[in-house]
Amino acid sequence: MPVDPGYGERLARRVSSLYATAELTLLRRIANALAQGIEAPEWASVKLAQLDLLRARIGQELDAVTEQAVGEVRAVIGQAFQAGQALAVADLDTIDLEQRLPPARAAAVERLAAETLQVVRPVGPRLLRATQDIYQQVVAEASANVVLGAQTRREAAQHALDRLTRSGVRGFRDSAGRNWTAETYTEMAVRTGTGQAAIQGHVDQLQANGLDLIVVSDSPRECKVCRPWEGKVLSLSGGVVGTIERESLTDGRMVRVKVAGTLDEARSDGLFHPNCRHSTSAYLPGATRLPTKTADTDARVAEEQRQRYLERQVRAWKTREATALDDTTARAARAKVRAYQARIRSHLDATDGLTRKSAREQVGRAR
Ligand SMILES: [Zn+2]
Repeated sequence: MPVDPGYGERLARRVSSLYATAELTLLRRIANALAQGIEAPEWASVKLAQLDLLRARIGQELDAVTEQAVGEVRAVIGQAFQAGQALAVADLDTIDLEQRLPPARAAAVERLAAETLQVVRPVGPRLLRATQDIYQQVVAEASANVVLGAQTRREAAQHALDRLTRSGVRGFRDSAGRNWTAETYTEMAVRTGTGQAAIQGHVDQLQANGLDLIVVSDSPRECKVCRPWEGKVLSLSGGVVGTIERESLTDGRMVRVKVAGTLDEARSDGLFHPNCRHSTSAYLPGATRLPTKTADTDARVAEEQRQRYLERQVRAWKTREATALDDTTARAARAKVRAYQARIRSHLDATDGLTRKSAREQVGRAR
């Protein structure tokens, strides 16, 4: 039985939703601060004088978010490891094997949590810096454009705010140079960590019971880099590669199995990359049926893309609402949020098998 890819997503959301909520709160806070006294002649200098206080308050809020996130990361990594172990136990139950438990692996779990925390901990301070930059930039642009006389100050400030927050608060760049928001970035980190923890728990349990072969799952939403590994049998130890014969665990006959490589090879080839949706299950000679027809259909991919597009619109308009400097703008943005939510509902009604992902409609997602 493979680890359900949605499981890691749900665990990761327990951390990333903390940042999605925090970001919306911060944006609302700076929009309110900017709107206050916006008609007054000394607005720009008052706003800059208020920056220190605003920064201190936002910094405190983000420290609390970080503390909560650290606790959640430790909890979800531990849970994912145990879930991986439990799935291996279920795999082994199908062949009625007397099971041995592996030695306790607290250190392995702590190491995986520490790796994830290395990515998650700096997010708060960076979010603080990014919000502060947006605030200063809006003050600067609004003052400059009003001097030119083309716009009122409110219009100029709203214009700058919209442009700077159009796709959430950016500022998290990964090693491939892609730009993420706090939410998508932490989700990626935690999903990667929980995915690795689940696989580690699974592998540990299988190896403790003398099993060496696993199968890579067939993900309904596959990633290009993992596509060649879908449904393939891998060796944990690396002891066997190529076509081999193994005794069936059900009736004792010999069965031929093609071992495509080792788990380490598949990993260095990109399998189980950040945000990967694949997982593993035990390969039990004679009992495991390998998946066939693992490719996604084009129609399915198009439906998915349409859903992602509509979700991005919902998130964009939610940000717009949080950063509105007056009621009319906020009302118009709210109406757009509702309209796109209705379109998502009818899209899902018209397509088979897609499920609504409310968390994806939250602010700040990259996909
Ligand atoms: Zn993948």
